[in-house]
Amino acid sequence: MVRSNHIEQTDPKVHAAVRDERRRQEESLGLIASENHVSEAVLEAQGSVLTNKYAEGYPGSRYYGGCEHVDTVEQLAIDRAKELFNAAHANVQPHSGTQANMGVYFAVLDPGDRILSLDLTHGGHLSHGHDVNFSGQFYEVEQYGVEPNNGRIDYDSLANHATEFDPDIIVSGSSAYPREFDYERIHEIAADVGAYHLADIAHVTGLIAAGIHTNPVGDADFVTASTHKTIRAGRGGLILTTEEFSEQINKAIFPGSQGGPLMHNIAGKAVGFKEALTPEFTEYAEQVVANAETLATTFSERGLSLVSGGTDKHYVLVDLRDSHPDVTGSDAEECLHTVGITVNKNTVPGETRSPFTTSGIRVGTPSLTTRGFTQSEMETVGNAIVDVIEHSEDRDVLEDVSTLVDRLCEKYPIYD
Ligand SMILES: *Cc1c(COP(=O)(O)O)cnc(C)c1O
Repeated sequence: MVRSNHIEQTDPKVHAAVRDERRRQEESLGLIASENHVSEAVLEAQGSVLTNKYAEGYPGSRYYGGCEHVDTVEQLAIDRAKELFNAAHANVQPHSGTQANMGVYFAVLDPGDRILSLDLTHGGHLSHGHDVNFSGQFYEVEQYGVEPNNGRIDYDSLANHATEFDPDIIVSGSSAYPREFDYERIHEIAADVGAYHLADIAHVTGLIAAGIHTNPVGDADFVTASTHKTIRAGRGGLILTTEEFSEQINKAIFPGSQGGPLMHNIAGKAVGFKEALTPEFTEYAEQVVANAETLATTFSERGLSLVSGGTDKHYVLVDLRDSHPDVTGSDAEECLHTVGITVNKNTVPGETRSPFTTSGIRVGTPSLTTRGFTQSEMETVGNAIVDVIEHSEDRDVLEDVSTLVDRLCEKYPIYD
């Protein structure tokens, strides 16, 4: 699939860019917490003839003829999602995690209703009510944050905030909060104020599917997920809910906010979910977290401050202000890029710089774990990252790290 020569003949420019991107992935160390590498099987499903088929509606009830085979595919994706998360209902059509959140809001909120969610600079997501996103423009939003002293959510103050604000929906879940959410507690808080609870598990989909993180199904009315971060099912979104809300959710996605489903991506989800049901995937997810713990220990030993002091998840969030007040998140990101290490700059709680500069970096382990990295390689990579941050002007250090990156990439290829 990946090496097909049809693109080369039809469109040499796109072919060259795809080839270069493949090379970039193979020849650098990807530590962006929201990225991963899907299997050849998922790539093949996504590059299949299913992209040609219109299938508005749901399996067994479509607005187009000829849907018998795509029905099979979508039903497999649905059944596997239900099994992975022990959910009564799954909608596998959202084109992305943001579309999944839009579907939930559209299903149960009216314009002007109230959302209570985690602050973006404390780890929240744009689709949780940021003012540049539709969610901030259609709804009235207040945000909760983490405590300045320990970087953690204080659930008593969240309960008080909910009582004062009286939200219609409380959103749990984050892009950059390194600790697990207490879904049960948020469920109680939501029930007390008569709000829905939406758990957005976009980042930890795979950790929950593998059974190593708490599953919010049962404690949340709606669970939204992305299918391309810690789970390797290709780019897309997913909604899980109860029997009670199944119709409302289906209608909110189609015809409410999307048109025809991307059947090739749904095929990717079906295949990726099947892979996630195996014991090998559980081992993978355990290794992802073990690798993040190793990164946390390595960084701490080298004097870097971590938001919340460590991690329960697949990434650490480094706050550079204590150890390296003159190094911004974007300085670190750029310098690491020059030696073939990819991370992203990230805002930290109490951020004093702009989101384009930031004072932190987020460093994640899903991609390298897919390549086969274990704790010893992660310790090596963690030390290399600190070396680069500390000696960003020293050409010998940068050259040494560059050589190390080449060696590791060669030893752990992504695709054969
Ligand atoms: C990544 C993410 C999403 C989904 O993002 P898409 O890019 O729209 O797929 C949603 N919520 C959170 C918390 C995320 O981290």
